[in-house]
Amino acid sequence: MNKVIACIGGDGIGPEIVAEAKKVCDQVASKYHHNFQYKDVLMGGCSIDAYGEPLTDETISICKEADAVLMGSIGGNTSTSPWYQLPPEKRPEAGLLKLRKSLGLFANLRPAYLYKELADACPLKEATGAAGFDLMIVRELTGGLYFGERKTVVENGVKTAIDTLSYNENEIRRIAIKGFEIARKRSKKVTSVDKANVLDSSRLWREVVNAVAKDYPDVTLEHMLVDNCAMQLVKDPAQFDVILTENMFGDILSDEASMITGSIGMLSSASLNDTKFGLYEPSHGSAPDIAGQNIANPIATILSAAMMLRYSFDLDAEAKAIEDAVQAVLTEGYRTVDIYTEGTKKVSCSQMGDLICERI
Ligand code: NAD
Repeated sequence: MNKVIACIGGDGIGPEIVAEAKKVCDQVASKYHHNFQYKDVLMGGCSIDAYGEPLTDETISICKEADAVLMGSIGGNTSTSPWYQLPPEKRPEAGLLKLRKSLGLFANLRPAYLYKELADACPLKEATGAAGFDLMIVRELTGGLYFGERKTVVENGVKTAIDTLSYNENEIRRIAIKGFEIARKRSKKVTSVDKANVLDSSRLWREVVNAVAKDYPDVTLEHMLVDNCAMQLVKDPAQFDVILTENMFGDILSDEASMITGSIGMLSSASLNDTKFGLYEPSHGSAPDIAGQNIANPIATILSAAMMLRYSFDLDAEAKAIEDAVQAVLTEGYRTVDIYTEGTKKVSCSQMGDLICERI
């Protein structure tokens, strides 16, 4: 298979962790006889330094022409970096928002998986951590409350702020289809999360999700109210496979789900459009405090590359080979500094990449 991958190293530890993910993709390419071609582009602070703006039209068009985008992270120290003296639309994060919009990325995937080797980092009860969990949050990314009309008005001398939460059935249908398709590649269960006891948008959400479910008889569907879901995530996360939800609920629940794994350097993510195209990046930021020291944990980015193989290229066996290699390295006791505990073997960012390659 021939694929072109646009690579955004970005800022801070971004270039270091993307280098390791590319190394792993190259290992997969050589073992499974694929050809991955990388096109390196700038975005974020490094693009501001080079071109005076966080995202250029050229970067957008290279990303659009590629089969997928693999990204590290962007941004600097928000208190000290001169990038944050610029107006908001010129700052590093503005580049990422614009890129997501330009690429039509409406589905955000955030897996939360607890490795038993890292169960000590899980803040939940010991038994819950020991049981492990493996869930995926599929969040609608371009609609709902964050994109609705908003205003602050003064009525009768009283300040009133108004935010609008709206969804149309097409927006709901396309994210629901993504959720069910993803469940088919996993344990075939979808928990659709809403607030249908209160919100009209949630009642429409439920209606459309029920209709989409008819095309996926092999996938089990359940509905759950968002407040209950927030509780169930800390009580019994193992009950979930795919959590399908709207933008704001997904924002909050995905942060909760990532917290219960306890290891920020391990969490991958993807944002997809309505084709196979996607942008793949770790959930963490650019960690400027440890940049340039070769100590960052590259696993979140490497697992993001595995998601790219699975969801954009349909290379399920190759994705699993990466995930198995990560598991093997952890089982053998190798750890970057962020997940190091006494008795395990401390390795650098590039050593971790090498170890994973060797096990593919
Ligand atoms: P952060 O995730 O960069 O770092 C939080 C803490 O976790 C730091 O102590 C850092 O050293 C550590 N950490 C994060 N990733 C790690 C890894 N892979 N290995 C080892 N340790 C790791 O969050 P922050 O400090 O709040 O943000 C730093 C910058 O990143 C900011 O400019 C922020 O806007 C940006 N950011 C970018 C994205 C993105 O590109 N999508 C996401 C979040 C934050």
